[in-house]
Amino acid sequence: MRYVIIGGDAAGMSAAMQIVRKGQNADIVTLEKGDIYSYGQCGLPYTIGGLISSTDKLIARTVEAFREQGIDAKTNHEVARVDPVKKAVYGTDTLSGKSFEYRYDKLLLATGASPGVPNIRGIDLTGVHTLKTIADAKQIMEDLNHDVEQVTIVGGGYIGLEMAEAFKLLGKQVRIIEHGDHLAKIFDADMATLIHEEADKQGITVHTNEKVEVLKGEERVEVVQTDKASYPCDLVLISVGIRPNTKLIEGTEIATGIKGAIRVNRYMETNVRDVYAAGDCAEQYHIVKEKDDYIPLGSTANKQGRIAGLNMIGLAKTFKGVTGTSVIKFMDLTLGRTGISEKEAQALNLPYATVRIGSLDIAGYYPDNDPLHVKLIFRKDDERLLGGQLIGKNGVDKRVDVLATALYHGMRLHELEDLDLGYAPPFNSTWDPLQQAARRG
Ligand code: FAD
Repeated sequence: MRYVIIGGDAAGMSAAMQIVRKGQNADIVTLEKGDIYSYGQCGLPYTIGGLISSTDKLIARTVEAFREQGIDAKTNHEVARVDPVKKAVYGTDTLSGKSFEYRYDKLLLATGASPGVPNIRGIDLTGVHTLKTIADAKQIMEDLNHDVEQVTIVGGGYIGLEMAEAFKLLGKQVRIIEHGDHLAKIFDADMATLIHEEADKQGITVHTNEKVEVLKGEERVEVVQTDKASYPCDLVLISVGIRPNTKLIEGTEIATGIKGAIRVNRYMETNVRDVYAAGDCAEQYHIVKEKDDYIPLGSTANKQGRIAGLNMIGLAKTFKGVTGTSVIKFMDLTLGRTGISEKEAQALNLPYATVRIGSLDIAGYYPDNDPLHVKLIFRKDDERLLGGQLIGKNGVDKRVDVLATALYHGMRLHELEDLDLGYAPPFNSTWDPLQQAARRG
Protein backbone atom coordinates (compact mmCIF):
# COMPACT_ATOMS: atom_id res chain seq x y z
CA MET A 1 0.00 0.00 0.00
CA ARG A 2 1.54 3.33 -1.09
CA TYR A 3 0.56 6.45 0.86
CA VAL A 4 1.42 9.78 -0.74
CA ILE A 5 1.16 12.92 1.35
CA ILE A 6 1.50 16.38 -0.17
CA GLY A 7 2.74 18.94 2.37
CA GLY A 8 5.34 18.30 5.07
CA ASP A 9 4.06 20.34 7.98
CA ALA A 10 1.44 20.05 10.73
CA ALA A 11 -1.35 18.17 8.96
CA GLY A 12 0.79 16.13 6.56
CA MET A 13 3.33 14.91 9.09
CA SER A 14 0.72 14.23 11.81
CA ALA A 15 -0.88 11.89 9.29
CA ALA A 16 2.44 10.37 8.25
CA MET A 17 3.40 9.60 11.87
CA GLN A 18 0.07 7.87 12.52
CA ILE A 19 0.62 5.71 9.46
CA VAL A 20 4.16 4.89 10.66
CA ARG A 21 2.97 4.04 14.17
CA LYS A 22 -0.16 2.11 13.35
CA GLY A 23 0.27 0.95 9.76
CA GLN A 24 2.16 -2.20 8.90
CA ASN A 25 5.20 -1.81 6.64
CA ALA A 26 3.56 1.17 5.05
CA ASP A 27 5.22 2.73 2.01
CA ILE A 28 4.93 6.47 2.76
CA VAL A 29 6.14 9.23 0.46
CA THR A 30 5.82 12.82 1.60
CA LEU A 31 6.27 15.56 -0.99
CA GLU A 32 7.22 18.99 0.35
CA LYS A 33 8.03 21.91 -1.93
CA GLY A 34 10.20 23.64 0.69
CA ASP A 35 13.24 22.24 2.43
CA ILE A 36 12.01 22.30 6.03
CA TYR A 37 9.57 19.87 7.59
CA SER A 38 7.28 20.22 10.54
CA TYR A 39 7.90 23.53 12.24
CA GLY A 40 5.90 25.85 14.46
CA GLN A 41 4.70 28.69 12.25
CA CYS A 42 2.91 30.00 15.32
CA GLY A 43 6.30 30.84 16.86
CA LEU A 44 7.42 33.05 13.96
CA PRO A 45 6.18 36.38 15.41
CA TYR A 46 8.00 35.66 18.68
CA THR A 47 11.20 34.80 16.83
CA ILE A 48 11.03 38.01 14.82
CA GLY A 49 10.34 39.90 18.06
CA GLY A 50 13.51 38.41 19.57
CA LEU A 51 11.88 36.26 22.27
CA ILE A 52 13.02 33.06 20.56
CA SER A 53 16.66 33.06 19.57
CA SER A 54 16.43 31.30 16.21
CA THR A 55 13.93 29.88 13.74
CA ASP A 56 15.80 26.55 14.18
CA LYS A 57 14.14 26.27 17.59
CA LEU A 58 10.75 26.08 15.86
CA ILE A 59 11.58 22.90 13.98
CA ALA A 60 9.75 20.06 15.72
CA ARG A 61 11.32 17.25 13.69
CA THR A 62 13.93 17.38 10.97
CA VAL A 63 13.58 15.78 7.56
CA GLU A 64 16.27 13.28 8.63
CA ALA A 65 14.24 12.32 11.72
CA PHE A 66 11.25 11.50 9.50
CA ARG A 67 13.48 9.50 7.16
CA GLU A 68 14.75 7.51 10.14
CA GLN A 69 11.12 6.56 10.78
CA GLY A 70 11.02 4.99 7.32
CA ILE A 71 9.21 7.85 5.61
CA ASP A 72 10.47 8.70 2.14
CA ALA A 73 10.45 12.41 2.92
CA LYS A 74 11.23 14.50 -0.15
CA THR A 75 12.20 18.16 -0.06
CA ASN A 76 12.01 20.66 -2.94
CA HIS A 77 9.31 18.48 -4.51
CA GLU A 78 6.50 20.70 -5.70
CA VAL A 79 3.36 18.93 -6.85
CA ALA A 80 1.70 20.68 -9.79
CA ARG A 81 -1.12 18.28 -10.56
CA VAL A 82 -3.14 15.47 -9.07
CA ASP A 83 -4.82 12.86 -11.26
CA PRO A 84 -7.32 10.88 -9.16
CA VAL A 85 -8.28 8.73 -12.15
CA LYS A 86 -4.74 7.43 -12.69
CA LYS A 87 -4.12 7.74 -8.93
CA ALA A 88 -0.95 9.72 -9.55
CA VAL A 89 0.60 13.05 -8.67
CA TYR A 90 2.96 15.02 -10.88
CA GLY A 91 5.42 17.78 -10.18
CA THR A 92 8.98 19.05 -10.31
CA ASP A 93 12.05 18.65 -8.17
CA THR A 94 12.82 22.36 -7.94
CA LEU A 95 16.51 21.74 -7.25
CA SER A 96 17.28 19.48 -10.19
CA GLY A 97 14.48 20.75 -12.44
CA LYS A 98 13.48 17.12 -13.12
CA SER A 99 9.83 16.18 -13.22
CA PHE A 100 8.42 13.39 -11.07
CA GLU A 101 5.38 11.16 -10.94
CA TYR A 102 4.20 9.17 -7.92
CA ARG A 103 1.41 6.62 -7.95
CA TYR A 104 -0.66 6.27 -4.81
CA ASP A 105 -3.18 3.95 -3.22
CA LYS A 106 -4.19 6.63 -0.71
CA LEU A 107 -3.47 10.33 -1.10
CA LEU A 108 -3.53 13.11 1.50
CA LEU A 109 -3.71 16.74 0.47
CA ALA A 110 -2.07 18.73 3.28
CA THR A 111 -0.89 21.69 1.27
CA GLY A 112 -1.89 24.38 3.77
CA ALA A 113 -2.68 27.92 2.70
CA SER A 114 -0.84 30.97 1.42
CA PRO A 115 -1.13 34.58 2.52
CA GLY A 116 -3.57 36.64 0.48
CA VAL A 117 -1.87 39.50 -1.35
CA PRO A 118 -3.94 42.47 -2.51
CA ASN A 119 -3.65 43.32 -6.17
CA ILE A 120 -2.32 46.86 -5.69
CA ARG A 121 0.43 48.91 -7.30
CA GLY A 122 3.76 48.70 -5.50
CA ILE A 123 3.13 45.33 -3.89
CA ASP A 124 6.43 44.03 -5.38
CA LEU A 125 8.57 46.80 -3.87
CA THR A 126 11.42 45.77 -1.60
CA GLY A 127 10.41 45.97 2.03
CA VAL A 128 6.91 44.58 1.46
CA HIS A 129 6.41 41.23 3.21
CA THR A 130 3.97 38.51 4.12
CA LEU A 131 4.53 36.02 6.93
CA LYS A 132 3.83 32.33 6.57
CA THR A 133 7.10 30.42 6.45
CA ILE A 134 10.52 30.39 8.09
CA ALA A 135 11.89 31.86 4.85
CA ASP A 136 9.43 34.78 5.15
CA ALA A 137 10.48 35.35 8.77
CA LYS A 138 14.16 35.33 7.83
CA GLN A 139 13.52 37.89 5.09
CA ILE A 140 11.70 40.17 7.54
CA MET A 141 14.50 39.83 10.12
CA GLU A 142 17.09 40.56 7.45
CA ASP A 143 15.13 43.53 6.18
CA LEU A 144 14.82 45.01 9.67
CA ASN A 145 18.57 45.71 9.49
CA HIS A 146 17.93 48.29 6.75
CA ASP A 147 17.28 51.37 8.87
CA VAL A 148 13.68 50.43 9.47
CA GLU A 149 11.94 52.75 11.89
CA GLN A 150 8.35 52.89 10.73
CA VAL A 151 6.43 49.72 10.08
CA THR A 152 2.96 49.54 8.55
CA ILE A 153 0.87 46.43 9.02
CA VAL A 154 -1.96 45.97 6.58
CA GLY A 155 -4.69 43.93 8.30
CA GLY A 156 -5.59 43.82 11.98
CA GLY A 157 -6.26 40.10 12.39
CA TYR A 158 -4.33 37.88 14.79
CA ILE A 159 -1.12 37.78 12.76
CA GLY A 160 -1.26 41.57 12.37
CA LEU A 161 -1.66 41.98 16.14
CA GLU A 162 1.08 39.48 17.03
CA MET A 163 3.43 41.16 14.59
CA ALA A 164 2.53 44.64 15.89
CA GLU A 165 3.74 43.41 19.26
CA ALA A 166 6.91 41.92 17.73
CA PHE A 167 7.80 45.15 15.93
CA LYS A 168 7.02 47.16 19.05
CA LEU A 169 9.36 44.93 21.08
CA LEU A 170 12.06 45.81 18.56
CA GLY A 171 11.44 49.50 19.20
CA LYS A 172 9.74 50.27 15.87
CA GLN A 173 6.94 52.76 15.28
CA VAL A 174 3.94 50.67 14.33
CA ARG A 175 0.85 51.56 12.34
CA ILE A 176 -1.98 49.13 11.57
CA ILE A 177 -4.33 49.83 8.69
CA GLU A 178 -7.54 47.81 8.83
CA HIS A 179 -10.30 48.06 6.24
CA GLY A 180 -12.98 46.84 8.66
CA ASP A 181 -14.40 48.92 11.45
CA HIS A 182 -12.33 47.32 14.21
CA LEU A 183 -9.26 45.20 14.91
CA ALA A 184 -9.62 41.44 15.42
CA LYS A 185 -12.88 40.89 13.62
CA ILE A 186 -13.36 37.51 15.30
CA PHE A 187 -14.35 39.62 18.33
CA ASP A 188 -17.46 41.76 18.52
CA ALA A 189 -16.99 45.52 18.22
CA ASP A 190 -17.82 46.16 21.90
CA MET A 191 -15.07 43.77 23.08
CA ALA A 192 -12.64 44.99 20.40
CA THR A 193 -12.78 48.45 22.00
CA LEU A 194 -10.50 47.00 24.70
CA ILE A 195 -7.98 45.96 22.02
CA HIS A 196 -8.03 49.47 20.55
CA GLU A 197 -7.47 50.95 24.00
CA GLU A 198 -4.46 48.67 24.47
CA ALA A 199 -3.03 49.65 21.07
CA ASP A 200 -3.45 53.27 22.03
CA LYS A 201 -1.82 52.76 25.41
CA GLN A 202 1.16 51.04 23.76
CA GLY A 203 1.62 53.75 21.13
CA ILE A 204 0.44 51.64 18.18
CA THR A 205 -1.43 53.79 15.66
CA VAL A 206 -4.56 52.17 14.27
CA HIS A 207 -6.59 53.33 11.28
CA THR A 208 -9.89 51.56 10.67
CA ASN A 209 -12.32 51.79 7.74
CA GLU A 210 -9.31 52.55 5.59
CA LYS A 211 -8.21 50.70 2.50
CA VAL A 212 -4.65 50.56 1.19
CA GLU A 213 -4.62 51.56 -2.48
CA VAL A 214 -0.98 52.00 -3.52
CA LEU A 215 2.47 51.36 -2.11
CA LYS A 216 5.01 53.91 -3.30
CA GLY A 217 8.80 54.06 -3.43
CA GLU A 218 11.75 54.03 -5.84
CA GLU A 219 12.91 50.50 -5.20
CA ARG A 220 12.02 50.16 -1.58
CA VAL A 221 8.63 50.95 -0.10
CA GLU A 222 8.49 54.50 1.29
CA VAL A 223 4.82 55.43 1.43
CA VAL A 224 1.53 53.64 2.00
CA GLN A 225 -1.34 55.43 0.33
CA THR A 226 -4.87 54.62 1.42
CA ASP A 227 -8.26 55.90 0.30
CA LYS A 228 -7.93 58.52 3.06
CA ALA A 229 -4.29 59.54 3.50
CA SER A 230 -0.60 58.76 2.82
CA TYR A 231 1.80 57.51 5.49
CA PRO A 232 5.60 57.28 5.38
CA CYS A 233 6.98 53.81 6.12
CA ASP A 234 10.14 51.71 5.84
CA LEU A 235 8.61 48.24 5.94
CA VAL A 236 5.16 46.85 5.19
CA LEU A 237 3.67 43.59 6.41
CA ILE A 238 0.62 42.39 4.55
CA SER A 239 -1.55 40.20 6.79
CA VAL A 240 -4.97 40.17 5.20
CA GLY A 241 -5.84 36.49 5.58
CA ILE A 242 -4.92 33.28 3.83
CA ARG A 243 -6.17 31.19 0.93
CA PRO A 244 -6.13 27.39 0.75
CA ASN A 245 -3.48 25.96 -1.62
CA THR A 246 -5.65 24.01 -4.04
CA LYS A 247 -4.27 24.89 -7.46
CA LEU A 248 -2.94 21.34 -7.86
CA ILE A 249 -6.49 19.89 -7.80
CA GLU A 250 -7.93 22.28 -10.38
CA GLY A 251 -9.60 20.33 -13.15
CA THR A 252 -10.25 17.31 -10.91
CA GLU A 253 -13.56 16.22 -9.39
CA ILE A 254 -12.32 17.04 -5.89
CA ALA A 255 -14.88 19.46 -4.45
CA THR A 256 -14.02 22.74 -2.77
CA GLY A 257 -16.29 24.91 -0.66
CA ILE A 258 -15.90 27.81 1.77
CA LYS A 259 -13.14 30.20 0.64
CA GLY A 260 -12.01 27.53 -1.82
CA ALA A 261 -11.07 25.03 0.92
CA ILE A 262 -11.37 21.32 0.14
CA ARG A 263 -14.62 19.69 1.26
CA VAL A 264 -14.10 16.79 3.65
CA ASN A 265 -16.34 14.52 5.69
CA ARG A 266 -15.71 13.56 9.32
CA TYR A 267 -13.20 10.92 8.16
CA MET A 268 -11.22 13.62 6.32
CA GLU A 269 -12.23 12.00 3.02
CA THR A 270 -12.86 14.21 0.04
CA ASN A 271 -15.67 13.36 -2.36
CA VAL A 272 -13.14 11.41 -4.47
CA ARG A 273 -12.28 7.87 -3.43
CA ASP A 274 -8.91 7.40 -1.67
CA VAL A 275 -8.20 11.15 -1.58
CA TYR A 276 -8.12 12.79 1.85
CA ALA A 277 -7.49 16.40 2.91
CA ALA A 278 -6.53 17.98 6.23
CA GLY A 279 -5.31 21.24 7.75
CA ASP A 280 -5.37 24.73 6.30
CA CYS A 281 -6.32 23.48 2.81
CA ALA A 282 -9.50 21.82 4.11
CA GLU A 283 -12.81 22.81 5.67
CA GLN A 284 -13.75 22.02 9.25
CA TYR A 285 -17.08 21.07 10.75
CA HIS A 286 -18.18 23.77 13.23
CA ILE A 287 -19.88 22.21 16.24
CA VAL A 288 -21.83 25.32 17.28
CA LYS A 289 -22.87 26.36 13.76
CA GLU A 290 -23.64 22.71 12.96
CA LYS A 291 -22.19 23.13 9.50
CA ASP A 292 -18.85 23.32 7.74
CA ASP A 293 -16.65 26.36 8.15
CA TYR A 294 -13.10 27.49 7.39
CA ILE A 295 -11.06 28.35 10.50
CA PRO A 296 -7.47 27.45 9.62
CA LEU A 297 -5.42 26.89 12.79
CA GLY A 298 -2.45 24.80 13.82
CA SER A 299 -4.36 23.06 16.61
CA THR A 300 -6.92 21.85 14.07
CA ALA A 301 -4.37 20.94 11.38
CA ASN A 302 -2.65 18.56 13.80
CA LYS A 303 -5.93 16.90 14.78
CA GLN A 304 -7.26 16.62 11.25
CA GLY A 305 -3.92 15.25 10.03
CA ARG A 306 -3.86 12.61 12.74
CA ILE A 307 -7.42 11.54 11.94
CA ALA A 308 -6.71 11.48 8.20
CA GLY A 309 -3.71 9.21 8.83
CA LEU A 310 -5.74 6.79 10.95
CA ASN A 311 -8.52 6.59 8.37
CA MET A 312 -6.04 6.14 5.53
CA ILE A 313 -4.86 2.92 7.18
CA GLY A 314 -8.42 1.81 7.84
CA LEU A 315 -8.75 2.66 11.56
CA ALA A 316 -12.06 4.54 11.44
CA LYS A 317 -11.92 7.67 13.56
CA THR A 318 -13.94 10.84 13.16
CA PHE A 319 -12.98 14.49 13.51
CA LYS A 320 -15.55 15.91 15.91
CA GLY A 321 -15.18 19.48 14.67
CA VAL A 322 -14.08 22.86 15.95
CA THR A 323 -15.81 25.32 18.24
CA GLY A 324 -13.86 28.29 16.85
CA THR A 325 -11.49 28.71 19.79
CA SER A 326 -8.62 31.21 19.58
CA VAL A 327 -6.29 32.76 22.08
CA ILE A 328 -4.04 35.65 21.15
CA LYS A 329 -1.45 37.65 23.08
CA PHE A 330 -1.49 41.33 22.24
CA MET A 331 0.91 43.43 24.29
CA ASP A 332 -0.31 43.25 27.93
CA LEU A 333 -3.61 41.62 27.00
CA THR A 334 -4.76 38.11 26.28
CA LEU A 335 -7.68 37.87 23.87
CA GLY A 336 -9.73 34.69 23.94
CA ARG A 337 -12.82 33.65 22.07
CA THR A 338 -14.73 30.51 21.30
CA GLY A 339 -17.99 29.55 19.63
CA ILE A 340 -19.73 32.20 17.60
CA SER A 341 -19.73 35.96 18.09
CA GLU A 342 -22.82 38.10 18.43
CA LYS A 343 -22.23 39.23 14.85
CA GLU A 344 -22.25 35.60 13.67
CA ALA A 345 -25.37 34.81 15.73
CA GLN A 346 -27.09 37.71 13.96
CA ALA A 347 -25.93 36.53 10.55
CA LEU A 348 -27.20 33.02 11.33
CA ASN A 349 -30.54 34.47 12.43
CA LEU A 350 -30.38 32.73 15.79
CA PRO A 351 -32.59 33.79 18.71
CA TYR A 352 -29.71 34.91 20.91
CA ALA A 353 -29.01 37.04 23.95
CA THR A 354 -25.74 38.26 25.44
CA VAL A 355 -24.39 39.09 28.85
CA ARG A 356 -21.25 41.11 29.42
CA ILE A 357 -19.48 41.75 32.70
CA GLY A 358 -16.32 43.39 33.93
CA SER A 359 -14.76 41.30 36.69
CA LEU A 360 -11.32 40.49 38.10
CA ASP A 361 -8.98 37.68 37.14
CA ILE A 362 -8.24 36.70 40.77
CA ALA A 363 -9.65 37.54 44.21
CA GLY A 364 -10.19 41.28 44.67
CA TYR A 365 -8.20 41.39 47.90
CA TYR A 366 -5.21 39.51 46.49
CA PRO A 367 -2.33 41.69 45.15
CA ASP A 368 -1.93 42.35 41.43
CA ASN A 369 -5.46 41.52 40.42
CA ASP A 370 -6.46 42.82 36.99
CA PRO A 371 -9.69 43.43 35.12
CA LEU A 372 -11.18 40.55 33.18
CA HIS A 373 -13.94 41.25 30.68
CA VAL A 374 -16.34 38.48 29.78
CA LYS A 375 -19.06 38.35 27.15
CA LEU A 376 -21.26 35.30 26.71
CA ILE A 377 -23.61 34.63 23.83
CA PHE A 378 -26.42 32.10 24.32
CA ARG A 379 -29.73 31.06 22.84
CA LYS A 380 -32.73 32.90 24.24
CA ASP A 381 -35.07 29.94 23.89
CA ASP A 382 -33.16 27.12 25.61
CA GLU A 383 -30.12 28.98 27.01
CA ARG A 384 -27.69 26.81 25.05
CA LEU A 385 -24.29 28.48 25.02
CA LEU A 386 -23.26 29.79 21.61
CA GLY A 387 -19.97 31.50 22.35
CA GLY A 388 -17.91 33.76 24.49
CA GLN A 389 -15.15 36.34 24.42
CA LEU A 390 -12.72 37.17 27.20
CA ILE A 391 -10.15 39.93 27.39
CA GLY A 392 -7.77 40.63 30.24
CA LYS A 393 -4.17 40.37 31.30
CA ASN A 394 -4.22 36.92 32.90
CA GLY A 395 -6.50 33.94 33.22
CA VAL A 396 -8.16 34.35 29.84
CA ASP A 397 -6.68 31.18 28.37
CA LYS A 398 -8.02 28.84 31.06
CA ARG A 399 -11.50 30.35 30.96
CA VAL A 400 -11.74 30.23 27.19
CA ASP A 401 -10.83 26.55 27.38
CA VAL A 402 -13.53 25.92 30.02
CA LEU A 403 -15.99 27.62 27.71
CA ALA A 404 -14.77 25.67 24.68
CA THR A 405 -15.36 22.45 26.65
CA ALA A 406 -18.83 23.66 27.60
CA LEU A 407 -19.61 24.39 23.93
CA TYR A 408 -18.29 21.00 22.85
CA HIS A 409 -20.77 19.38 25.22
CA GLY A 410 -23.67 21.65 24.22
CA MET A 411 -24.04 23.06 27.74
CA ARG A 412 -26.61 25.68 28.79
CA LEU A 413 -25.82 28.99 30.39
CA HIS A 414 -27.01 27.99 33.87
CA GLU A 415 -24.94 24.80 33.76
CA LEU A 416 -21.78 26.94 33.82
CA GLU A 417 -22.80 27.94 37.35
CA ASP A 418 -22.74 24.31 38.44
CA LEU A 419 -19.18 23.61 37.31
CA ASP A 420 -16.74 22.81 40.10
CA LEU A 421 -13.90 25.15 39.07
CA GLY A 422 -10.66 25.62 40.96
CA TYR A 423 -10.55 28.37 43.55
CA ALA A 424 -7.94 29.93 45.78
CA PRO A 425 -7.42 33.72 46.01
CA PRO A 426 -4.22 33.86 43.87
CA PHE A 427 -6.10 32.15 41.02
CA ASN A 428 -9.77 33.05 41.14
CA SER A 429 -12.78 34.34 43.03
CA THR A 430 -15.16 31.92 44.70
CA TRP A 431 -17.38 32.40 41.66
CA ASP A 432 -15.29 32.27 38.51
CA PRO A 433 -15.92 35.25 36.16
CA LEU A 434 -17.56 32.83 33.69
CA GLN A 435 -19.98 31.80 36.41
CA GLN A 436 -20.54 35.42 37.46
CA ALA A 437 -21.49 36.19 33.87
CA ALA A 438 -23.75 33.12 33.65
CA ARG A 439 -25.61 34.18 36.80
CA ARG A 440 -26.33 37.59 35.26
CA GLY A 441 -27.50 36.15 31.93
P1 FAD B 1 1.11 24.40 6.42
O1 FAD B 1 1.73 24.53 7.75
O2 FAD B 1 0.94 25.61 5.59
O3 FAD B 1 1.90 23.30 5.59
C1 FAD B 1 1.60 23.01 4.27
C2 FAD B 1 2.87 22.54 3.60
O4 FAD B 1 2.56 22.14 2.28
C3 FAD B 1 3.91 23.65 3.49
O5 FAD B 1 5.12 23.22 4.06
C4 FAD B 1 4.02 23.91 1.98
O6 FAD B 1 5.33 24.25 1.57
C5 FAD B 1 3.59 22.56 1.40
N1 FAD B 1 3.00 22.67 0.07
C6 FAD B 1 2.03 23.50 -0.34
N2 FAD B 1 1.74 23.29 -1.66
C7 FAD B 1 2.55 22.30 -2.07
C8 FAD B 1 2.73 21.63 -3.31
N3 FAD B 1 2.00 21.95 -4.40
N4 FAD B 1 3.67 20.65 -3.39
C9 FAD B 1 4.41 20.30 -2.30
N5 FAD B 1 4.29 20.91 -1.10
C10 FAD B 1 3.37 21.88 -0.99
N6 FAD B 1 -2.38 28.49 14.57
C11 FAD B 1 -2.77 28.31 15.85
O7 FAD B 1 -3.55 27.39 16.13
N7 FAD B 1 -2.32 29.13 16.85
C12 FAD B 1 -1.45 30.14 16.61
O8 FAD B 1 -1.03 30.85 17.53
C13 FAD B 1 -1.03 30.36 15.28
N8 FAD B 1 -0.15 31.35 14.99
C14 FAD B 1 0.28 31.51 13.71
C15 FAD B 1 1.18 32.53 13.43
C16 FAD B 1 1.63 32.72 12.13
C17 FAD B 1 2.58 33.82 11.84
C18 FAD B 1 1.18 31.86 11.09
C19 FAD B 1 1.66 32.05 9.69
C20 FAD B 1 0.29 30.84 11.36
C21 FAD B 1 -0.17 30.65 12.67
N9 FAD B 1 -1.09 29.65 12.98
C22 FAD B 1 -1.52 29.48 14.27
C23 FAD B 1 -1.65 28.79 11.92
C24 FAD B 1 -0.91 27.48 11.79
O9 FAD B 1 0.46 27.71 11.65
C25 FAD B 1 -1.45 26.73 10.59
O10 FAD B 1 -2.82 26.52 10.81
C26 FAD B 1 -0.77 25.39 10.38
O11 FAD B 1 0.58 25.56 10.09
C27 FAD B 1 -1.44 24.64 9.23
O12 FAD B 1 -0.79 23.45 9.02
P2 FAD B 1 -0.90 22.71 7.60
O13 FAD B 1 -0.04 21.51 7.70
O14 FAD B 1 -2.33 22.54 7.24
O15 FAD B 1 -0.35 23.76 6.55
